[in-house]
Order: sequence, then structure tokens, then C-alpha cells
Amino acid sequence: AKEAGRNTYQYYSQDALAKIQRKLEIEHALLGAIEREEFTLAYQPLMHAENDQPPAIEALLRWHRPGIGYCSPAEFIPIAEKCGEIVRIGDWVLAEACRQAAAWDAAGLEFDRVAVNVSAVQLRDRGFAERVIDICHAHGWPPQRLELELTESALIRDTDVLRHCFDVLERHGVPLAVDDFGTGFSNLHYLNRFPVGRLKIDRSFVQGMLHDAGTAEVTQAIVHLGHALGMKVVAEGVETEQEEAMLRRQGCDEIQGYLYSRPLAPRDLALWLKQGLQT
Ligand code: C2E
Ligand code: CA
Ligand code: CA
Ligand code: CA
Repeated sequence: AKEAGRNTYQYYSQDALAKIQRKLEIEHALLGAIEREEFTLAYQPLMHAENDQPPAIEALLRWHRPGIGYCSPAEFIPIAEKCGEIVRIGDWVLAEACRQAAAWDAAGLEFDRVAVNVSAVQLRDRGFAERVIDICHAHGWPPQRLELELTESALIRDTDVLRHCFDVLERHGVPLAVDDFGTGFSNLHYLNRFPVGRLKIDRSFVQGMLHDAGTAEVTQAIVHLGHALGMKVVAEGVETEQEEAMLRRQGCDEIQGYLYSRPLAPRDLALWLKQGLQT
């Protein structure tokens, strides 16, 4: 028994050690990943639920490491947030999304806006909002067509830096969306405090709504709440026509998910948009 106990202890500590080593290794590899051009953006459309107005597009970060392969943002973004590298990476994402959007627009592709995910750490960085506007101007992309997707955790604290940030963004008409809505905090004061125009219902609710009446009531409540506050409501992670039908019935404004398209490489998204123009 003693023997087994010792082995178990060793097993767990090695496991923990391996996790720490992987984190350190990723942190190290993140430094210079921009310069080595290891990042790309994938783009996923958001469709209007009611009409066939042009879709919006969300930019999602992809990291391909030569000789190692793909690393998921769910794994490396939290590490980039901890070491602060997310600020530089986030600026790269904003610039690349604006550059690509302006190029597509110039090529005659029709879409409503490009949405970029922004972490709480980026928002807290002094001068963030000014940089967003500068990046838009540098790439000839109107700030009114760049949406920032923020998580609830980025919005709970009401600091001077945050207030200034939202003042600047609002002055330039940058739309804001709350991502993963419903998973974070029950205190919803921030919805009135900050100029949020859109709520994105988290994928976990969409996945549960067909099988669980309580979950379907949550999505319906989010749609009502958003509309009562004058906001639009989006559902993410929609994979089936049944989910889509229920969300439409509930009054959801926009729908995003594998049902319409996975996140696509830029060239494939451009083709996808062109097909939409023909039909
Ligand atoms: P998110 O912003 O909530 O993005 C949605 C995630 O769900 C994406 O995963 C997307 O590929 C995936 N997805 C979309 N439709 C479906 C569907 O129908 N079914 C399923 N099962 N999944 C779907 P991805 O690209 O791996 O990104 C994961 C998370 O990483 C994002 O969640 C976002 O929080 C973060 N992230 C991605 N790119 C960036 C970025 O540029 N900056 C920051 N700060 N975070 C990012
Ligand atoms: Ca998002
Ligand atoms: Ca989500
Ligand atoms: Ca998210």
C-alpha cells in the first residue's frame, strides 16, 4: 500500500510538473511569434436571423507552430494574458482584421462589420482605445464597422482607465458586444454603465436548449433582457436547424455557428461571401 501511495504521489506531481513545463514552453514560444509570422486569423460569419442582410464576420486567432502544429487559443490566450504578451498580440489581431476587412470591402465583398475578441488585460492597458482608433485609421477601416467582443469579467470593474477607454470608443462609434453572456456574473449593472450594443449568448446555453426546458428559458430571458435594454442579441455555437428554429422563434437577432460555417481561412471566407452575393 505504501508503494502504491508513493507511486500515486509521483504520478500526480509529474503530471503537475508537465503542465507547468508546457505553460512555460508556450509562454516562451509566444514571445516573437508575431515576428516569426506564426499567427493567422480565421473568420466566421454571423447571419441575420430575420432577413438576408449581409453577415457580420468574427476574427478568431490561430497559432501554427512550425514543427509542433496547431495550438488552441483556449490554451494560449490565458497564458498570453498572464505574461502580458496579449497586448502586443491583440494589437496585431486588430491591425490584421482591419487590413483584411478593408481589402475585402475594396474588392466589393459585402459584410456588415468585423468583430474582434478583446481580453480584459488589453482594456486595462492605458492608451488601448486610442490605439484601436489609430489602427482603424492606418488601415482605412471605419471604427463604426469594427466591433469589440468583451467578456463580462472585463466589464465588472469600473475604473478611470476603463471609463476613459469606453468614452473614446463611444466617441468614435466603435460597437461593443458582451461575449459568452450568461456565464460570468449575476451583477448586470455594467450593461447600463458601458455602451454595450450586443449580447452574445454563450454556446453552452445553445447546446443545452433543446434538451432542457430550463436552459431554453435562459436563452429566451437573455433575448428579452437584451431587447428591453435596446440591444441586439446573438447566439453562438449553433449547429443544428432545430436550434436555429428555436432561437429565431425566441427573437434572436443574429446566429453564428457550424450550421452556417466553421471559422474559415481568409480565402475561403471570401469565396463564401461571394457565393452569398450570387444567391
Ligand atoms: P469565443 O470568442 O467564444 O469564440 C467561439 C469559439 O467557438 C471559437 O473557438 C469557435 O471556433 C468555436 N465555434 C464557433 N461555432 C461553433 C459551433 O457551432 N460549435 C462549436 N462546438 N464551436 C464553435 P476558438 O476559435 O478555438 O476560440 C476559442 C476562444 O479563444 C474564443 O471563444 C475567444 O474567447 C478566444 N479567442 C480567439 N481568438 C481570440 C483573439 O484574437 N483575442 C482574444 N483575446 N481571444 C481570442
Ligand atoms: Ca467571441
Ligand atoms: Ca463563447
Ligand atoms: Ca470567449
